[in-house]
Amino acid sequence: PEKLIIIGGGLAGSEAAWQAARRGVKVELWEMRPGKMTPAHRTGYLAELVCSNSLRADTLENAAGLLKAEMRRARSLIMAVAEECRVPAGKALAVDREEFAARVTAALEAEDRITIIREEARAIPVQGPVIIATGPLTSPALAESLKGFTGAEYLYFYDAAAPIVTAESLNYKRIFKASRYGRGEEDYLNCPLNEEEYRRFYEALITAERHPRHEFEPEVVFEGCMPVEVMGRRGPDTLRFGPMRPVGLIDPATGKEPYAVVQLRRDNLAGTLYNLVGFQTSLKWGEQERVFRLIPGLEEAEFVRFGVMHRNTYINSPTVLKPTLQLKEHPQVFLAGQLTGVEGYIESAASGLVAGINAARLIKGQEPLTLPPATAHGALLQYITDPTHDPLQPMHINFGLLPPLERRVKGREVRNRALAERALQIWSSLGEFSGN
Ligand code: FAD
Repeated sequence: PEKLIIIGGGLAGSEAAWQAARRGVKVELWEMRPGKMTPAHRTGYLAELVCSNSLRADTLENAAGLLKAEMRRARSLIMAVAEECRVPAGKALAVDREEFAARVTAALEAEDRITIIREEARAIPVQGPVIIATGPLTSPALAESLKGFTGAEYLYFYDAAAPIVTAESLNYKRIFKASRYGRGEEDYLNCPLNEEEYRRFYEALITAERHPRHEFEPEVVFEGCMPVEVMGRRGPDTLRFGPMRPVGLIDPATGKEPYAVVQLRRDNLAGTLYNLVGFQTSLKWGEQERVFRLIPGLEEAEFVRFGVMHRNTYINSPTVLKPTLQLKEHPQVFLAGQLTGVEGYIESAASGLVAGINAARLIKGQEPLTLPPATAHGALLQYITDPTHDPLQPMHINFGLLPPLERRVKGREVRNRALAERALQIWSSLGEFSGN
């Protein structure tokens, strides 16, 4: 029988290897660490968490919680180990980072069908079957090889990004539409801050916890993409002359220019997502939620992507990838993890789970599956591969990606729970994905 090659032993590759091996498939898992490190990893463990030790929310009112519930039903290794190394974190699932990565590594090493090769893969094996899961910090040689498969124009890199929130989570009692000096269409949403609100926000921003600086972050940042908290530290008014300047914006509620403004720009054609203009940041993800919710109008904002100041490598999935995670032009090549444009530890592991199961199916002569869009896995993979989302922006799981309920339900929490219940009901009929 054919063996499956998996390149990259991170969150996605580890889960994929486990799922395929559980289905009787022989796996060769290539991981370049510790011989060759990435700029963010610190150890030789598989599934190392490069930053936060939180795998985010774990209740069904939250889409990240739903994704976890589906993974547990599919007997996910990442979820099982996370449970064993859980540390107290309220409604979130946080883990002991060392213990977590060490145990995932041990579980994969103990599995007879998995051979771990500690070497950099510099080219994608043409014959396949192969899963590429080399993550946001894919080694340059492999990125070159990947270009050959996808077309150079479809492999993206960016080094900084601002957070994105959902339109439906905004508080429109505080926000007004306007463009500066009334010029152009009223394309922007504006969140006005009075002096007191500004001071409170400013204090929180400059004292919030940042990601430890990695050596690949340039010492001198270009003015145009300086983290907002770094700019803030230059002085209490710097931001009011920078991304938060209010000039030319009249708040209809007061008839005056506010003391400061945060502008939101549409991020997709459908108008369901907005980014915070000029707010690229390296604050820790939990801190971003806490600090940016101090901005009037964003009190309950739902973040579909957090700001980052590090490299992210990903492909334009809407053009090249199927929702089964196979390349359209090379069905024996699967992609998984952050490389596909999903964002986050859990999303990466979830896509690895699907790639592992689907690659095993292909090897056994079965059709790889497209998951129903009303499940969290299905919605996420549908989103990243949908041609209308070209060019792709990396995406967290969120309830906005699922098709709406057939009936109207009032209240966000109640609605989310109903969406989660519907998803889990569908999930239970998905054969091997549901653990049957
Ligand atoms: P990874 O987990 O990075 O795994 C890829 C693996 O492939 C690595 O082990 C790497 O060594 C290996 N590799 C690369 N090239 C090759 C090659 N050619 N041959 C062999 N092996 C190779 N997400 C969160 O949810 N919370 C956070 O707080 C968070 N912080 C982040 C901070 C940083 C600095 C970065 C870069 C990302 C962060 N992310 C965070 C985003 C994302 O969730 C993680 O990067 C996640 O680990 C992605 O999973 P993955 O499996 O796609 O990639």
